[in-house]
Amino acid sequence: MKAIAVSPGYAHGKVFILQDEVNWNNISLQTNDVPGEVSKFNLAIQKSAAEIKELILQFKGSNQKDQADIFEAHALMIEDPEVLEQTIGLVQTQAMSAAWAYKKTSDGYAQMLAALDDEYLKERAADVRDIAGRVLKHLLGKAQENLKELPLGSILVARDITPSQISLLDAKQVGVSVMGIITEMGGKTSHTAIIARALEIPSVAGVQGILEQVENGTEILFDGVTGQIKIQPTLEDIKDFNFKKNQFEAQKKDLLSFRRLKSETHDKRTVRLAANIGGVSDVFSLISNDAEAVGLYRTEFVFLDRNRVPSQEEQFQIYREVFEKLGERHCIIRTLDIGGDKQLEGLSMDQELNPFLGLRGVRLCLREQNIFKDQLKAILRAAVGHSVGIMVPMISNIEEILETKKIIKECQSELRACGQKFSEGFKFGVMIEVPSAAMIVDFISRHVDFISIGTNDLTQYICAVDRLNDKVEKLYNPYNPGFLRTMNSILSAARKNNLHVGICGSLAHEEFLVPLFIGMGVDELSMTSQHILQTRKLVRSLNYQDCQKLVEEVLQLETSAEIKAKIQAGKSKEKA
Ligand code: PEP
Ligand code: MG
Repeated sequence: MKAIAVSPGYAHGKVFILQDEVNWNNISLQTNDVPGEVSKFNLAIQKSAAEIKELILQFKGSNQKDQADIFEAHALMIEDPEVLEQTIGLVQTQAMSAAWAYKKTSDGYAQMLAALDDEYLKERAADVRDIAGRVLKHLLGKAQENLKELPLGSILVARDITPSQISLLDAKQVGVSVMGIITEMGGKTSHTAIIARALEIPSVAGVQGILEQVENGTEILFDGVTGQIKIQPTLEDIKDFNFKKNQFEAQKKDLLSFRRLKSETHDKRTVRLAANIGGVSDVFSLISNDAEAVGLYRTEFVFLDRNRVPSQEEQFQIYREVFEKLGERHCIIRTLDIGGDKQLEGLSMDQELNPFLGLRGVRLCLREQNIFKDQLKAILRAAVGHSVGIMVPMISNIEEILETKKIIKECQSELRACGQKFSEGFKFGVMIEVPSAAMIVDFISRHVDFISIGTNDLTQYICAVDRLNDKVEKLYNPYNPGFLRTMNSILSAARKNNLHVGICGSLAHEEFLVPLFIGMGVDELSMTSQHILQTRKLVRSLNYQDCQKLVEEVLQLETSAEIKAKIQAGKSKEKA
């Protein structure tokens, strides 16, 4: 079976099924004591709210901010006057039992949220169910299940596990009585997933039908990295699983020792290792993998996740939360990069013959200036008190840079005019991912504070190979000498002009290319957080001068096969 991998790790154990909260066959529908039911309901809400407050205090006391935040949200939701009034209304007008009335109301609310297109709001349905479960237990006098006393080696299997349930587990149980979690529902951004990652419990979600295939005690294993599940595994499966698990743990252990070490070569050349993020949910992993900054915050996901253009205020809240969670770390936030393969209904062009060569990134923003301005204002406001770089994608000439800067100035005057606070101390930069920009880095350096190379696009535009077209995939080749020469020319122009230069495409963590990029003089490598520690290990094994020599040699080679062979030969000599 295949699942969504939500918390990495390997789990092998015996199924422990977490039952759905309440058996509804035994609940009476009607009541003869309306006032009695109303006060029972009010009491259940009070007790539940008190429990939630207690959880918030516990989490705050142990510095577990993410968990505390989740229950802060529950504390607000449980007092939602609409839900309370509707429930009491059903009891009073239809003599419905409080349990039924509350279930009916909260189910309706959860279903309404689950039907929304917005991924984030959709997953809030689980919070509503969680709160309802807590209140119903008080109404029905049912005890919370004792997750503290699970049998050793349990893998929890459930339709869904609520944040309240998972919060009953503690770190000491992980790897002893709780090996992992499998749920039929949920996804990567659910609160349960956030807590599972925080507790480092391997976890997979979205496994439709698992409850029909297992019972308490069934042997099961899963791979929380790929999402592969085996029910009643064979000896061969177990051998394969143990091999992968040992490898994963050895690597993790080894890499952990690289946290808080400097990212520098033997001869003291420092490279900033930064993370690429798409939203606040990526910040936890960034911190646990010790990323030094954010080198690319892809803000288009704020739009794509909602499938609409969010308001300035909404964006302000989102960006501010990210900046706050990052603490002192610098954050390069990229303005909207819609177009190409990232289409947003109502904003992207209907049909373009070559969308990657079309109205994309800054081109679209300069056309849709209201949207651009709202985003820029939201960023400028959220950046107050934080170290922020604003970066513009798909720049292909100086005019686009000047026009963007003019628009930023307008945004500042407009914010000033309406008395809004905004940042004046931000840095301004552009992505170098279009060949015509790559050729004029010296000119560009006069207008910006930093650049970052988008190798995903630069490779496709230099080699004229659509990055999504599998028929020409072989030609999408970063060892292409033309591509490597372009990289070298960008990096040396940046060095000559004292311009901070990063790489934020997915080549930034490629084992064989990192030595070349360091030799070419890159200042920052930005990648998904999971790659930070292995890249730090690699950087610390290198010598800057040797990397420079390697660049000189590689740039003399005519074919990508020769280049690859040269780099790999150097690597195996080093290993030997
Ligand atoms: C790139 O092009 O390398 C890049 C980082 O941007 P994206 O992948 O979002 O186009
Ligand atoms: Mg790009």
